[in-house]
Amino acid sequence: MTDRAAPTGPGAARVGTPVPELLAPGPTLSFEFFPPRTPEAAATLRETVATLAPLTPAFVSVTYGAGGSTRDLTHGLVVDLLADGWNPVAHLTAVQHTRAELTAIVAGYRDAGVRNVLALRGDPPPDVEPFRELEHAADLVALVREVAGDGTGIGVAAHPEGHPLATSVAEDRRHLAAKLEAADYAVTQFFFEAVQWERLVADLAALGCTKPVLPGIMPVTNLAQIERFAQLSGATVPAWLVERLAAVGDDPAAVRAVGVEAATELCRDLLAAGAPGLHLYTLNRSTATREIAAALGLGA
Ligand SMILES: Cc1cc2nc3c(=O)[nH]c(=O)nc-3n(C[C@H](O)[C@H](O)[C@H](O)COP(=O)(O)OP(=O)(O)OC[C@H]3O[C@@H](n4cnc5c(N)ncnc54)[C@H](O)[C@@H]3O)c2cc1C
Repeated sequence: MTDRAAPTGPGAARVGTPVPELLAPGPTLSFEFFPPRTPEAAATLRETVATLAPLTPAFVSVTYGAGGSTRDLTHGLVVDLLADGWNPVAHLTAVQHTRAELTAIVAGYRDAGVRNVLALRGDPPPDVEPFRELEHAADLVALVREVAGDGTGIGVAAHPEGHPLATSVAEDRRHLAAKLEAADYAVTQFFFEAVQWERLVADLAALGCTKPVLPGIMPVTNLAQIERFAQLSGATVPAWLVERLAAVGDDPAAVRAVGVEAATELCRDLLAAGAPGLHLYTLNRSTATREIAAALGLGA
């Protein structure tokens, strides 16, 4: 560990604060949720949100279904979280949207008092002809800056092992550095070894980019699921982790315990390496996140 303070959360005092202002004193703790599509899923998320509230995260981010499939759901959840005293970051993807549609969505957030957007390119849904009036996430960063103004914190996505469709990691790093020039910070895809984050930050520094890069942490609670996610995102599940999970067999509680233990070790390594915060992919569940926070001595 470095001598930096342990991550803390804000409580209501940080509602509507741009993330860059929170990262400066860092390190922060933050969570990702996705908008539920059924009443049962909504009830699960409500319970998760209530359970995680004592951890007082600096912000919570809400995903966006590429192509607009969760346009109203994402907006509704973001605005509800803001009203309930959380500091939401609205994800937004450019793919399958016109410039006018994106402008209207960003203006809606601005007018509702939401001060944070994560600007993404997104992937077109399967079997849909791709439409990109805005070609890259960097184009959406420019649009958000123009529509929402300087008082809005703009984050972007980073892929520690390179974006799966990039021709090389080096090329992907150059695009990321250029994208970050106009944005305020990045949040990474999940990964399992701190060295992935350290390499990413070092490569960006070599390109002259020193904007904060928040590591995204996905605790493994189910091996098959994580292997599927990893395949889609280009992340590698290391052999040592597969072996540790395989050693406990089919016992779901034991698999979760190993996943939480591995994620906690990763968080410790990242904080020791100087990460500006920890962004946890909750998958709308609270248990693993709560256990990791407790093991790190964070929150209530
Ligand atoms: C933290 C995080 C949150 C996410 N949240 C969501 C979400 O809510 N909804 C969702 O649908 N998806 C989400 N994604 C997934 C994301 O949409 C996909 O990874 C998508 O394929 C790439 O998005 P991007 O913003 O990184 O795109 P970009 O930055 O545009 O990069 C995409 C590809 O284009 C290349 N590229 C970039 N700029 C240029 C250029 N100028 N010239 C040539 N090539 C270029 C890059 O190297 C890369 O290979 C998230 C990913 C992360 C890491």
